[in-house]
Amino acid sequence: MSEEERSLNFIEHIIEDDLRDGYEKEGLRFRFPPEPNGYLHIGHASSICLNFGLGLRYQAPVNLRFDDTNPAKEEKEYVEAIKADVSWLGFEWDTECYASDYFGQLYDWAVELIKQGKAYVDSQSSDQIAEQKGTPTEPGTESPFRNRSVEENLTLFEGMKNGEFEEGEHVLRAKIDMASSNMLMRDPIMYRILHKAHHRTNTDWCIYPMYDWTHGESDYIEQVSHSLCTLEFLPHRELYDWFLDQLVESNKLRPKQREFARRNLSHTVVSKRKLLQLVENGVVSGWDDPRMPTISGLRRRGYTPESIRNFANTIGIAKRENVVDVSLLEFHVREHLNKIAPRVMAVLNPLKVVITNYEEGKEEWLEAENNPEDASAGSRKVPFSRELYIEQEDFREEANRKFFRLKLGGEVRLKNGYIIKAENCTKDSEGNVIEVQCTYDPKSRSGSGTEESLRKVKGTLHWVSIPHAIEAEVRIYDRLFSDATPDGHKDQEFMDFVNPDSLKKVTGFLEPSLKDVKVGDRFQFQRLGYFNVDVDSTSENLVFNRTVTLRDTWAKLEQKK
Ligand code: ATP
Ligand code: MG
Repeated sequence: MSEEERSLNFIEHIIEDDLRDGYEKEGLRFRFPPEPNGYLHIGHASSICLNFGLGLRYQAPVNLRFDDTNPAKEEKEYVEAIKADVSWLGFEWDTECYASDYFGQLYDWAVELIKQGKAYVDSQSSDQIAEQKGTPTEPGTESPFRNRSVEENLTLFEGMKNGEFEEGEHVLRAKIDMASSNMLMRDPIMYRILHKAHHRTNTDWCIYPMYDWTHGESDYIEQVSHSLCTLEFLPHRELYDWFLDQLVESNKLRPKQREFARRNLSHTVVSKRKLLQLVENGVVSGWDDPRMPTISGLRRRGYTPESIRNFANTIGIAKRENVVDVSLLEFHVREHLNKIAPRVMAVLNPLKVVITNYEEGKEEWLEAENNPEDASAGSRKVPFSRELYIEQEDFREEANRKFFRLKLGGEVRLKNGYIIKAENCTKDSEGNVIEVQCTYDPKSRSGSGTEESLRKVKGTLHWVSIPHAIEAEVRIYDRLFSDATPDGHKDQEFMDFVNPDSLKKVTGFLEPSLKDVKVGDRFQFQRLGYFNVDVDSTSENLVFNRTVTLRDTWAKLEQKK
């Protein structure tokens, strides 16, 4: 489905209504506002595709805004990673903005609010303030400092800014309504003292504005028309609007906050805080561990930007939270890689095959198509010889008629090569088959044009020539969590559901065309799945990740519906 064909989502309906009600199309502006306290994850991809998608649809600018108001958790490393990820996903922002660039303006506006009697310095402890909050059904209690004079408030607030107080000694609060049915309107905190260096403003500030007193104001400064956020901010909208009521000048555009549902993915967690825990506890090797649902993890795993965008656009946006099955994400990467990934042969669980009627020392280079889905992908040569590897699973001494792979007395075609027949096998002392002796039909070579080359046998196996094979470390991943909703349990921590077998390393034997691969190159290992070259790979030690298996479980699930 192309971008134009699909029907409008509910956010686009809101925008269309606004355009009908007199909003200027030229005035539309959006932003994607990550807090640089971790790496972006697949949930963020939904928000990115939504905001940048609106930018493309309406030819409106989209800012990349760093919501950097908490120096305790934010770092430059995260800023850089976020920029790299948004770019890699294929989007271009208009302006790179930082909430911290507005600290001066926000401070001046706060002083204005104090002068208008709409903000005050509270000198109680956070516990005392919390106690006075009331409950959703009972009003809160007013702070004893609520009616401080404007003069005193101005002096104290300036003192806060100048570093005259310890953390926790004072806060600045908006003076709204301690009896509001919306608890967030009960004199929310606007500033707290934090004697911490900020990754951009360093030690210029020791008071930092709270989210609510930053976000809408940043939107206003940037003249963002539609400020889209996730549903947990719905109750904040009233406060968002209250702050804007105090500031907006009549000749300026007034931003609107609108909410959509967070996207969750099964068998993982999409929360920077929880992902950080996985990194810090060494459950994964880092934010870009290929098992992580981060954009950088998916990239390293071999996902393409297209597959992530297609996934995000397919699930679209919703008004209610739900969990999307990870197999839908896998479906999209499989679909894209099927189109673009060259086919190669690799054996991951080798069993030796000797072709007894093939001359010793002889080799042939067989023509192999690179991608049947893409004629322009061309072909390559793969070496054939007397000794080959096939997969252990592809041979059985005896099997019923449904086993189309190799069995004693049975025939299979070797992909791009000959038909072979299993004659005998050798076992070790424990009874495991360690070698299969076969004969081949010399006239049956694929593509040779003979009658035998067209002969149909039920099974086709992938294989590699042992003397030509190159070895590689192949990392096979399973779900990081064994439970579909690891953070959805009341009595158990998400960490309790970490799958201990989510990474398996095996030695693979690869056709020699893979000798000169580069980090990031993607392939289909025929009959096994899609694989890419990991960043740990060197020319001496090749390392591959399994991106996804070939089997299309999601399509099967869909068919059952
Ligand atoms: P996290 O809990 O992972 O830190 P967050 O919402 O605090 O998430 P932000 O950096 O504040 O992370 O998010 C930037 C934008 O991405 C926000 O507009 C947020 O609403 C949106 N976003 C975050 N997580 C999701 C998600 N799972 N689905 C859709 N949008 C999301
Ligand atoms: Mg956050």
